Amino acid sequence: MRLILLGPPGAGKGTQAQRLVQRHGIVQLSTGDMLRAAVKAKTPIGRKAEAIMARGDLVPDDVVVAIVSDRIDEADARKGFILDGFPRTVAQAEALERLLAEKGLRLDAVVELQVDEGALLKRLESRIAQMVARGEPVRPDDNAQALKTRLHVYRTQTAPLIAFYGKKGLLRSVDGMAAIEAVAAAIDGALSPEIAVRGG
Ligand code: ADP
Repeated sequence: MRLILLGPPGAGKGTQAQRLVQRHGIVQLSTGDMLRAAVKAKTPIGRKAEAIMARGDLVPDDVVVAIVSDRIDEADARKGFILDGFPRTVAQAEALERLLAEKGLRLDAVVELQVDEGALLKRLESRIAQMVARGEPVRPDDNAQALKTRLHVYRTQTAPLIAFYGKKGLLRSVDGMAAIEAVAAAIDGALSPEIAVRGG
């Protein structure tokens, strides 16, 4: 199964992706995680992305498209994958279409986590407070200014993907404000046609 998880920062994409990984034996491809690894390893991409990410802006499309294309070719992605944090612009979605077509692959569904924007900042702030309490390092883009930018970027550049995938008949929207287990159940329900076709 090949899925996209769509939703603003703090919508719970990572949490739901991890559960889908366990349930369907597919891999989670998070461009945010991949870019943070590149920053940590100080690769050329990481050096280029570091300041952009800290501000909450988007890394250039060609950079993330190349990372995703390479990652999809790895053996563990053969059974399927969940794209988490990609695509984030219509240009990225178009590039994804082209590269999947070249590889002879197709998307099964795009799951949109619908959340109330007003609740997001609170959610993100409490996530940060919990990380601090656990003594974990806080991401450089988990501060008030960068959070505002990330939400603005989502609204202006990523939200148009909802209509983009809606027109293609791939969009499955679920209420992301419910409890984690309820959101998970709603995702399973939304994906049941795809799961039936694929037998699991
Ligand atoms: P969030 O919690 O905001 O969903 P992510 O971990 O997905 O965060 O991404 C963190 C940052 O990494 C983004 O704000 C952006 O700078 C960069 N990034 C991640 N994915 C992409 C992408 N598909 N295109 C451009 N930049 C990206």
